[in-house]
Parts: sequence; structure tokens; C-alpha cells
Amino acid sequence: MIILRDDMQSKVTGCMLIITPIAWIVTSLVNPESLMVGGVFFLLAFLVFFWRYSCTSSGENDLTISFDSIRFSTGGRPVRIRWQELEDYGTGRKTSKIPSVQGGDMEKTTDYITLKRKKADGTTETFHKDLSSWGGSKVMGHVAFYTAARVVKLIKKLSDAQSKKERVEIIKNAKGISNFEFKQKKIPFWHRKVLTCTKCGGISCYDNRISKDEFICPSCGENPKSERERNGMIK
Ligand SMILES: [Zn+2]
Repeated sequence: MIILRDDMQSKVTGCMLIITPIAWIVTSLVNPESLMVGGVFFLLAFLVFFWRYSCTSSGENDLTISFDSIRFSTGGRPVRIRWQELEDYGTGRKTSKIPSVQGGDMEKTTDYITLKRKKADGTTETFHKDLSSWGGSKVMGHVAFYTAARVVKLIKKLSDAQSKKERVEIIKNAKGISNFEFKQKKIPFWHRKVLTCTKCGGISCYDNRISKDEFICPSCGENPKSERERNGMIK
């Protein structure tokens, strides 16, 4: 089973939970008169972040992919699509505008996947599941990182698979190494090289003492080389 979660979203809101009270204290020190008014403002901000944090970490926005089905919830309604019922799938990107306090709008892009389910009566039902506004989601407990395009590739593989055994195997290979294994491999920071994998988009640390050709992306198991280098190799 693979559980994909918008990890950045919960990290960002988690950070805001710590920053908000600090901001209140700092503002109060600078301007003691704002202690009460600021207190109300920051308390409200804190509650908003807390609510969002509990939403993202409760798992209700997760996308669960298992050997028999895909599960998620959309608009508060839980959906389960078995592999046999899946008719079509794809990705999309939408932009929404968030009005900002300073005037002018901020743009937010969200990647989503589209899934079509064939119903018993022959009609199809289409679902949109938001994936992430931060480029991708993380596999819970593992280091693998999934962009919307990679999720669709995995869905294609699982949908094409013929047996339960095949699907179990695909899922096992798609998770990347576990967080625990990853921590065991900690690299001293003066030897770290941070690279973005061109294959899956995951950002990871590599040990610069070993040859670049031997780097293995912990998320997808491929060499995280840049596109240019990869093409250079072929020529
Ligand atoms: Zn990768």
C-alpha cells in the first residue's frame, strides 16, 4: 500500500504554528500597546493554521494506492475505485487566485489527477483529486516523492497489471527506501551534494565522495543526472 500525502503543505502550516506566537511576542516587544489587539489577531491566525494543519496531517487528503484499488476523498466523500473499474486517468493543473491583503491577487497552482470510473450500469463517473500545490507528494514513511505525472505512470502500470501478485510487486518497488533506512545513511554535511532528480523530481542529498555515476535516487532508484548529462552519455 502506498499512501501519498501533501507533505510540504503540512510542513509549511506546521512551521506557521511556531512562527505565529513568536511574531506576536516580537510585535508586542516593539510596540507594547499592540499586545491585546495583536493577541487577538495572532490567535485567529494561529487557529486558522492549526485547523489547516490538523486537516493535512489527519490523512483525509491522502491518496491511497493498494493492490486492489485507489482510495481518496473528494469534497468530503470517500471514493474507492477498483482497478477493474478504472476506465481512464490523466493529470491536470489548475490555478486559483488567492486575494492578498496588500491588494492584488496571488496565484496558486495545484496539480491534480483525473480518474474515470466505470459504473455497473455502463455510465462513467469522473473524479478530480488534488495532489499538491508544492510540486508533488511524499509516500508516507518512505522517501519517494511523486509528482502528478509520476502518480499517473504508477496508475498506468497498476492498471495494466494482470494479477494481484504483479500489483503487490509494483507497489513494493514504487515506494523508495524507508525513512528509517534513509536516516541510517546520513552523510556529513560537508560531503553533501543536493540534487533534484530529473526522473522523478525528488530532491535528495548525495555523498560527493562517491562518483556521480553511482548516485542512486532514493525515491525512484534511478541515477538523478541532469537531462543534459544523460543526453551527453548517449551521444
Ligand atoms: Zn528519482
